[in-house]
Amino acid sequence: MGGRDANMVLLDKNGIRCDGRKVDEPRRIMIRAGGLKNADGSAYIEFGDNKILVGVFGPRDVHPKHMSNTDTGILRVRYHMEPFSVGERKNPAPSRREIEISKVIKEALEPAVMLEKFPRTAVDVFIEVLQADGGTRCAALTAASVALADAGIPMRDMVAAIAAGKVADTVILDVNNEEDQAGQADMPIGYMPSLKKITLLQLDGVLTPEEFKKCVDVGVKGCELVYELQKKALHDKYFGNRGD
Ligand code: UDP
Repeated sequence: MGGRDANMVLLDKNGIRCDGRKVDEPRRIMIRAGGLKNADGSAYIEFGDNKILVGVFGPRDVHPKHMSNTDTGILRVRYHMEPFSVGERKNPAPSRREIEISKVIKEALEPAVMLEKFPRTAVDVFIEVLQADGGTRCAALTAASVALADAGIPMRDMVAAIAAGKVADTVILDVNNEEDQAGQADMPIGYMPSLKKITLLQLDGVLTPEEFKKCVDVGVKGCELVYELQKKALHDKYFGNRGD
């Protein structure tokens, strides 16, 4: 949250946002299941101008062995941004932010994955952000769920994710980069729509208790929309005419 930029009109008098969307309108979302032949499962997502590729491997042996757990499988997640994914070249070394987002996504996926079925093994999720425009953790979490399903990993549900937020004292759905920088709040939400459980909830910014509740409601509804696109991506691969 960069504080408010006086020159940026985040919401005009007609209720239209800086990129032309209405307050409750998500960006264009395209999800494709599969695509990487050397991964056990994969997915590609375009979420507005975010472009993210996810490859999943496993369940497979854990090296070093002492990292394994005899009672359950473990999930390992690496979120990585390409140096060319942002306006100012990003240092290729893992940043604190990438380490944090890797941890957040892992913890958001864990309730969905039936790791107890694969003791002593690991499931690895590799996330490559090719282009970033605000909301990469939600887009990555959404694609990672599809890639895990594509890998045939037993799951209780998929996690769908999107951010709610606040600009010009108004609650909005799906916060873009400008809104993240100049707006008042950003609340990424990960949600398992069939189980009706939230697995990720972060908040950057300040909300009243009423706004907080509204953001959660708007975010959960947004996740339900994203969930339909996740299911469609899997359906298109396995029951469609894609031929891969
Ligand atoms: N960003 C950037 N350079 C960086 C890290 C982030 O330009 O080194 C941009 C990028 O567009 C990202 C946005 O800042 O999507 C918001 O980052 P944040 O940490 O809030 O995570 P995100 O919203 O992507 O989950």
